[in-house]
Amino acid sequence: MNNQDLKNLLKIYEQKRNNAEMECENKINNFYNNNPNLSAIVEQINLTSITISKEILQNHNNTVIELNKKLDILKEKKKKILEKMNIDDSFFSPNYECKLCNDTGYLINNNNIMCTCLKQKLMDLLYNKSNIYNLEKENFSNFNDSLYSDKIDEKKYNSIISPRENINNIKKIANNFIENFDNPDEKNLLFTGNTGLGKTFLSNCIANQIIKNGKTALYQTAPIMLDSIIDYRFGKTDNFVYENILSVDLLIIDDLGTESINNLKFTELFNIINTRLLNQNNKITKTIISTNLSLNNLFNTYDERIFSRLAGYYNICRFYGDDIRIKSTY
Ligand SMILES: [Zn+2]
Repeated sequence: MNNQDLKNLLKIYEQKRNNAEMECENKINNFYNNNPNLSAIVEQINLTSITISKEILQNHNNTVIELNKKLDILKEKKKKILEKMNIDDSFFSPNYECKLCNDTGYLINNNNIMCTCLKQKLMDLLYNKSNIYNLEKENFSNFNDSLYSDKIDEKKYNSIISPRENINNIKKIANNFIENFDNPDEKNLLFTGNTGLGKTFLSNCIANQIIKNGKTALYQTAPIMLDSIIDYRFGKTDNFVYENILSVDLLIIDDLGTESINNLKFTELFNIINTRLLNQNNKITKTIISTNLSLNNLFNTYDERIFSRLAGYYNICRFYGDDIRIKSTY
């Protein structure tokens, strides 16, 4: 991992945190300015607390008891007023963007563990892929099944259902995949079919939803992924890339079959697919692979070990129809 990237991100986090805290302070100040009665009570609470501390230091126990009684009454008064106004404690705390880490980048209850929000940002930076997670464009609400023909053409598509019905079936499978992501029995996804049928779009829709659900996702094309692993093996890069390929919650391997193949890459590819199936350390990892190759071509290109993993542990979705890129912008 690039330390400078982490430092820069942590600076942005600090800024974010400061903004949230300042905003909160302003909000509270405004609130008390508009509610002078309450403001007076809070001031009394503060003064009483200070006096109590002083009296404790001087061992004036009876006074302390009296003052504590007074403090309780004041607090009760404050509580009642706030309840009447329908205001709870959360009003007085900053509205951090990430509730898991309060925008510190590390978990609230264990600050040795990096929060998924920071991990995801590091990965986006590392692969310069932040625009792949374009939440506004690539999400299910922009999924338009009318781009797929509703005409059945068994000869042309080698299927008895129309491309539209087919894509809606695949969408259902994708939704189930998201919903059951943490279920070890839920299969991974293999998207096959020609380019321009929405495989990458659908993968990104899924990734966006998975990230929204607080998990990490990493998008890689097969050629770049395998090259970067070989680079790591030869000591040209550190292990951040490789570790994340193995451990990220959702890995998307796009364009499988477009890489130049050799035995070294076969082994690495098998290792990735197999390791991610093992759900090591009780951590569920899932993978989406998409390829322009047909199943037959996949079988001919990759050895039996890889193919048997794909056939056994992947839900195979065949995309067919006419190139939708001509009809849409994605
Ligand atoms: Zn976080």
